Amino acid sequence: MKITGVETHLHRSAFTYGASTGGVGGNLHLRSMDTLLVRVECEDGVHGWGEGFGFTLAETTQDAVDRLIGPACIGQDSRDIAGLGRMLQRRFHNFGRNGPVTFGLSAIDIALWDIAGRRAGKPLHALLGHAARKRVPAYASLLRYGAAEDVADNTAAAVSRGYRRIKLHEVDLACIRAARDAAPPEVPLMLDINCAWNSAEEAIGFCCAVAGMNIRWVEEPTWPPGDFAAIARVRAAAGCGIAAGENLGGPIDFQRLFAEGAVDVAQPSITKHGGVSAMLEVAALAKAAGVAVVPHSPYFGPGLLATLHVLAAMEQEEPLEVYFADLDAPPYGDALAVRDGFVAVPEGPGLGLEPVL
Ligand SMILES: [Mg+2]
Repeated sequence: MKITGVETHLHRSAFTYGASTGGVGGNLHLRSMDTLLVRVECEDGVHGWGEGFGFTLAETTQDAVDRLIGPACIGQDSRDIAGLGRMLQRRFHNFGRNGPVTFGLSAIDIALWDIAGRRAGKPLHALLGHAARKRVPAYASLLRYGAAEDVADNTAAAVSRGYRRIKLHEVDLACIRAARDAAPPEVPLMLDINCAWNSAEEAIGFCCAVAGMNIRWVEEPTWPPGDFAAIARVRAAAGCGIAAGENLGGPIDFQRLFAEGAVDVAQPSITKHGGVSAMLEVAALAKAAGVAVVPHSPYFGPGLLATLHVLAAMEQEEPLEVYFADLDAPPYGDALAVRDGFVAVPEGPGLGLEPVL
């Protein structure tokens, strides 16, 4: 069943995230919430949707799909997801393992899985596993505010919206303490450092400072993200869970990360590492290594929806990352809204929802 069309749509939405000073906390670069939606159409008239990692790079990813990846897909068999993925990865391997090209390849893979589900007449999660969860718990992933009062206010807002797990992107201890004081003690915090610390020793000092605050994990503690030995040193000394993965170069990097014993939690990203197929590969490696999988998913389109299906299918229940921002035009309206801390899993064929462009 040949692919006859690959179309890209830049989805752009204004957003708010509860910052009192218009984004002084470090998100000034985000003027809108942008992402790349990709529609793949086949000769039998079936189509599917994917998403390539976005934000300020969405237009570059769009260019990679329009110029390189889309044309290479035309005429290929949409049913051979693994074979097509291998061909595309080899053809474009010299353009990097984590960047606009792999983001574009991820979008194609997600769309092909959507198509497979639509053809089978089954929701995507039913193709991936047997857990068949009707709803998946969510965690609120707060953007960086950099101001303790904003962090406290938005932590309280997330709790009042029903979230029972909260992630911060703060590095300042006063901000982290403000969140801890604003949330009930049983609500775990996750701390995303975004590689801010320059050494394992600096990161270990930080982890010791937050000990006793009910921290599920500290995420990407050190720079550079590929120094797995440094992350492993932090884990050995930290006394708290360590998470990483969003900036790795696909399944083979995850294998190395696990071999170093560097993490408790792996965070593959469905719009960055090769779509649903790469997510399944990483999940299998993680299971063999005894590592939990809690995907990276701070986006709002087919990538978020596909991640929801993966989590609905997985044996071990883990939460969906939901970016704590209110979009004027979310791609799926309020269909993925968090209610009582959970997101409902669509039961229609494939991804189960059609984005509103
Ligand atoms: Mg992160």
